[in-house]
Amino acid sequence: MKIAILSRNASLYSTRRLKEAGEQRGHTMQVIDYLRCYMNITSHHPQLMFQGKLMDDFDAVIPRIGASKTFYGTAVVRQFEMMGVFPTNESQGISRSRDKLRCLQLLARKGIGLPVTGFAHSTKDIEGLLDVVGGAPLVIKLLEGTQGIGVVLAETKQAATSVIEAFRGLDANILVQEFIKEAGGMDIRCFVVGDKVIASMKRQGAPGEFRSNIHRGGSAAKVKLTPEERSTATRAAKAMGLYVAGVDILRSNHGPVVMEVNSSPGLEGIESATEVDVAGKIIEFIEKHATYGKTRDRAQH
Ligand code: ADP
Repeated sequence: MKIAILSRNASLYSTRRLKEAGEQRGHTMQVIDYLRCYMNITSHHPQLMFQGKLMDDFDAVIPRIGASKTFYGTAVVRQFEMMGVFPTNESQGISRSRDKLRCLQLLARKGIGLPVTGFAHSTKDIEGLLDVVGGAPLVIKLLEGTQGIGVVLAETKQAATSVIEAFRGLDANILVQEFIKEAGGMDIRCFVVGDKVIASMKRQGAPGEFRSNIHRGGSAAKVKLTPEERSTATRAAKAMGLYVAGVDILRSNHGPVVMEVNSSPGLEGIESATEVDVAGKIIEFIEKHATYGKTRDRAQH
């Protein structure tokens, strides 16, 4: 097969591993910087060009779209879809996953466990918003944040009110969430490929830190999931329309709750914590499922 990896940087661990895993299995792999692609949007004959060459003979595409380049990146993935190329994640699924609120709304609709979450536009309604999530302590999140930046724990009602006012004063969109104290600064990354969790690790925040992000000094280790956690993760990926996803869950008193579903989950942390050949599993998935014109999103038919 000929497989494209959409990535801005061929030397990133995840990109290198996917290329290597594909080549090991006898495929032709090409890393394409999606920001350097240009397109011809013509009826019946959509085309995609990269470095002056027509990209018209791929069987599958693995999108690794950076959060800040979602708009153009998803347009390139969509162009591949229009050309009938099988993507490991469709453009719509990627767009959905980039909006935390949209993500939670879709998961809620499917009855998937979530922390109690509130959202409001106006600071006039703070009181009501705090009641929605059961009062302090609570977690306030910037919708645009990643790697734990913009995730704040407010221990008291006064603290919560000032943080919300400050964020809203900057015109930032936020959501307010029940604080899952019993998680003890630990979250679980479930790596879903197709309809299975193929690897899972727990991440523990540095001492005194409620955020488990590795970027914030957390550490990772292999973890065994309960059947309920497994099904929560696979259902979450499915609800988002993603074949390849990193589903982050917390262990709460009311069962597993989903924090976030990531459509370009990194391979380095999970492969080193679990010793699972995650890149190989993604290539295997492509071998089984890549067929010309196979895309689930209704808008694309
Ligand atoms: P980001 O996308 O920036 O990583 P997250 O929403 O995943 O933001 O939050 C970062 C970390 O903070 C999580 O991995 C988790 O450890 C912790 N956290 C987030 N929300 C809650 C919550 N409601 N209760 C307890 N811990 C939380």
